[in-house]
Parts: sequence; C-alpha cells; structure tokens
Amino acid sequence: MTKQISSPPAIVFTDWDGTVTLQDSNDYLTDNIGFGKARRSAINQEILEGTQSFRDGFQEMLDSVTTPFPECIDFLLKNVQLDPGFKEFYHWCAAKKIPVIVISSGMKPIIYALLKNLVGEDAIQNIEIISNGVKINEETKEWDIVYKDPQSPFGHDKSNSIKEYLEKHGYNSTNTPLLFYCGDGVSDISAAKETNLLFAKHGKDLIKYSIREKIPYTEFNNFADILSKITSIIDADGKNINEFIENK
Ligand SMILES: [Mg+2]
Repeated sequence: MTKQISSPPAIVFTDWDGTVTLQDSNDYLTDNIGFGKARRSAINQEILEGTQSFRDGFQEMLDSVTTPFPECIDFLLKNVQLDPGFKEFYHWCAAKKIPVIVISSGMKPIIYALLKNLVGEDAIQNIEIISNGVKINEETKEWDIVYKDPQSPFGHDKSNSIKEYLEKHGYNSTNTPLLFYCGDGVSDISAAKETNLLFAKHGKDLIKYSIREKIPYTEFNNFADILSKITSIIDADGKNINEFIENK
C-alpha cells in the first residue's frame, strides 16, 4: 500500500495524568482523600522496582478512596490544572491534522470532565480517549475501576492500545507517519518502546525507568517544549530524531 496523501505528518499519543495535567488525578485522590502520600509513594516504589504490578498497586490506591465518584470528579475539577502549553499544542496539532490520542491508565469519566473543563468542548470531539473505565453501584454509590486489559499487569496495556489504534486506522509498515508518545510515570512503561520518540517528563519516574532500561527518550518540562521539538522533527521529516535523544 502506498502512502496515503491524507496521512498526517505525525500521530501523538499521550499519557493524561501528570502529563497533560500538572497533577495526577489518581495520586491526588489517593493523597488527599485516600490513604495518603506516604503509603502511595511506597507502593509506587514497589511498582518501579517490579515487585508489585502497576494494576494491583493502583487498585490498592483507588480502593483507599471511598468518596462517591461524582464528588471525586468535583474535587478534581476544582484542583487539577492543565499543562500551560497544552492548549497551544492541541490547536497546532488540529491545524496540522495531527491526531492527539490520550492513552491513560486513569478512568474515562474523569479525563472527559477535565478535558472538557480545561481545554474545551471541541477537544472532546477531537481528542480520542483510550483508558480504563469505572463502574458505580447506583445503590451504595461505591465505585471501582474497570481495567481495559484486566489480564495485563498494567491494567491498561498502552502498547497494545497504540497497536490497536494504528491497525484500526489502516496504518502498516509502509504508511505509518512519525509516532510520538508523551508521558511521565510508571503507567507509561508499557508504551515507552512503541513510537519513534518518547517524550519523558523532567524529574519524573519515566526518566529513571528509561535510563535503566536503555529506552531512548527526550525530556520535556511542558507541552511548549514538545511543540518546539515536534515542529523541528516534522520539518526535517524525522531525520533529526537522534539529535534529541538524551541517553545515547
Ligand atoms: Mg502519568
């Protein structure tokens, strides 16, 4: 199959929590209305060291939050902020017809509410969200995460979602444009190797992991950095990607 004229110059897959938003919603709930930051940090360390799966550790954190789900959403809408460069980045991608796909280990109703509130109604139409879900018991108001890939130790196997997206949209080895992934934490480990370039957030766990596992990455502080680097890479048709890799 020849390259389609309508193919975008790139596809951007991105983590949501702590990447598009400054605060990780799930961490924020756990720290403030769940069992708190000390216990969460200990579990996070176990996940990073591989002695606990992301899925099970994450489940423990969420189980400690017993506030009804709609109140959790209200709490997050009041407290979670958007990366300062994301809106401009999103509008630039929309103008270039570059798809932006959120690949998240969080829960869709939370991401949806924040995306609508922080970016706008049009973002809901344009940005696909591939994530876990939630089930709410209407009588007791208790809620629980519904993993997209319950068999996976990640709960949501992000690498699988990227592959599914590409397959669903007719991309193969001959017509796939430049692929980027942006992330910050342990939930991104499963996606880290799937794209042409991994953007890893400065000072966060994904960098530690990428160095340890020798996964090439480039750092970002915010989406203004990502916009600047992706613009440069697209202008060079991807030939300068290696110049951005920081752990050669
Ligand atoms: Mg994250």
